[in-house]
Amino acid sequence: MFIIGLAVGSFLNVVIYRIDDLKSIVNTRSHCRHCKKNIPWYDLVPVLSFVLLRGRCRSCKKTISWQYPLVELSTAIIFALLAWYFGQYWLVGLYALIFSILVVVFVYDIKTQYVLDVFSWSLVILSLVTGLIFFRYHPIDVLWGVIAGGAVLGLLVAISKEKWMGLGDVFIGASLGAILGGQKALLMIFLSFIIGSVYGLFLMLLKRTSIKQSLPFTPFIIISSLISLLAGDYILSWYLGYIYMY
Ligand SMILES: [Zn+2]
Repeated sequence: MFIIGLAVGSFLNVVIYRIDDLKSIVNTRSHCRHCKKNIPWYDLVPVLSFVLLRGRCRSCKKTISWQYPLVELSTAIIFALLAWYFGQYWLVGLYALIFSILVVVFVYDIKTQYVLDVFSWSLVILSLVTGLIFFRYHPIDVLWGVIAGGAVLGLLVAISKEKWMGLGDVFIGASLGAILGGQKALLMIFLSFIIGSVYGLFLMLLKRTSIKQSLPFTPFIIISSLISLLAGDYILSWYLGYIYMY
């Protein structure tokens, strides 16, 4: 799954760069963004080629973006974690598909501050189908997940008139809620605010940003959803046990 993740991550990089021109994803061969030369197959090995070329194009020596190896490596790690946690292959495949879309949303949001409708809608459909049909969750449970994942963010969008965060964030939160279920969806939202504020404070300490500047929020939701999915049971039982002790 790690190796499959590397290959998929390499494809996701292409999707991220060419998403505004969907046709070129299948029609164009991989080429350098500076000198436009086609890249030979031996320079397209995920992560390894980047390391061997020391992050530079073989023909024009211009730097290659860190996005390439980072996306490849993260996708591979996520796929491996999913396989380790779930073991059942069809389930791993389903989550791998969902998290592949999330990787694209993550990077695209950082680069452009936008969440494209095509991704939020496909996530909504995919997660509802997954929750209701594949997991056979009760519709009420799915509804709870959607509300837990989407309500707080939706409220913030309404209050701020989309200044603090966008509708895209709400869609992502709600659809992840549908596959996480109510409790873990709440945990996801809680974690995303904690991680987001720690990151925001860190940036302010480095004087890289002011308090007025908005941050892309989907990356925090996505990281939190992965934590909730893989470690949610553990965190929740620890937290609830802690409450019952007192
Ligand atoms: Zn080049």
